Amino acid sequence: MAYIKIGSNLTLEVPSNPTIGYIEGDGIGPDISKTSISVINASLEFAYGGDRSIEWEKVLAGEEALSKTGKHLPQESLDQLKKCVVSIKGPLTTPIGQGFRSLNVTLRQYFDLYANIRPVKYFPGVPSPVKNPEKMNMVIFRENTEDLYMGIEFKYDSPEASKMREFLASNMDVKLTDDTGIGIKPISKFKSSRLVRKAIQYAIKNKRRNVTLVHKGNIMKYTEGAFKEWGYQVAANEFKDNTVTEEEYLKDPDNYRGKIVLKDRIADNMFQQVLTRTEDYDVIATTNLNGDYLSDALSAQVGGLGLAPGGNVGDAYAIFEAVHGTAPKYAGMDVANPTSLILSGVMMLRHLEWDNAADVLENAIIATYHDQKVTQDLARVMNIKPLKCSEFGQEIIKRM
Ligand code: NAD
Repeated sequence: MAYIKIGSNLTLEVPSNPTIGYIEGDGIGPDISKTSISVINASLEFAYGGDRSIEWEKVLAGEEALSKTGKHLPQESLDQLKKCVVSIKGPLTTPIGQGFRSLNVTLRQYFDLYANIRPVKYFPGVPSPVKNPEKMNMVIFRENTEDLYMGIEFKYDSPEASKMREFLASNMDVKLTDDTGIGIKPISKFKSSRLVRKAIQYAIKNKRRNVTLVHKGNIMKYTEGAFKEWGYQVAANEFKDNTVTEEEYLKDPDNYRGKIVLKDRIADNMFQQVLTRTEDYDVIATTNLNGDYLSDALSAQVGGLGLAPGGNVGDAYAIFEAVHGTAPKYAGMDVANPTSLILSGVMMLRHLEWDNAADVLENAIIATYHDQKVTQDLARVMNIKPLKCSEFGQEIIKRM
């Protein structure tokens, strides 16, 4: 077995046959994982003959782990994911009342996967609710480890909330009524900066046109507003040669051709902009809650969550995952749409810098949709005959 190594400067040293971890997932997870692995393998064979391949290492998590080990996420699984460095996962049921909020949150915190990366792009042939879905080609970098995601909350009638209210009243002259619940929104310079840094690095590497900082700093000045300020500072201090602020750019566009334009938008305005001026936006860097809303809204514009891939990426570790949930009503029926997980596989291949295979796979998916070969979630809307999940995978492989 050959594992990916983390080299100096946190770069990945990828052997020609790396062991990659995979979590099948609950519900439709096993169906979409099986199909995804088969199409990823086929893309490698097509792109590299036998010169590069993946050894898949199954990692237990979720309901299967619970039934076999008594734990949703046993330590052994965390150890495996650590050894693999890069992994892919299907959706996991969120256990209710088990003392932690979600397995996904646990994984993100354990491996400090601070950037939730969600590319959103249109595939011709997919039904969309907007007139020009093809104008959409954005990549969202959503901060994954702080903001309201941290879940620092106190129920209105708890002793903690009461203590907080007393503290605020006596020390800060902030008066809240007894029926007020309290949530805390921490946003730090270090975590904001590293997220924006990753977004700008991505924009440079992938020759994107602009990076937009999305925030609600007009109201929340010292959290959302600070995120924006720190974002501009990162660009000015670390990427002076590659970036220009929108303000500077507009004064003299010719002088700044080829530079990445750094803009900022207030979140509510951004929701209008992505609909009315879709083509003006490219890479987006934003705080956690804004990113949560915005990424689902963007996915809806191009045909929904069934097609949306995601990656949770830190400085070295990365877990790529389907964005949707376990769709329990379709579990084990081989009818779910595997595209979200397959496109997460495309992201994973690019992360390994195996771009030839990623291109083969992405182009085959585009051709499959172009030929109106779809699973039942879309076939229903298009009024055509649906393919099974596994048949859809076969159609992709045929088009490589
Ligand atoms: P869901 O995404 O599972 O389902 C929402 C709707 O979309 C349903 O109608 C479902 O049938 C459909 N759908 C989703 N993915 C599909 C696919 N690939 N093909 C066809 N149809 C698809 O969301 P939910 O019902 O709110 O959640 C179910 C479970 O999944 C919950 O336990 C939730 O916590 C969990 N969940 C996990 C993740 C994750 O692991 N990343 C994400 C979201 C929800």
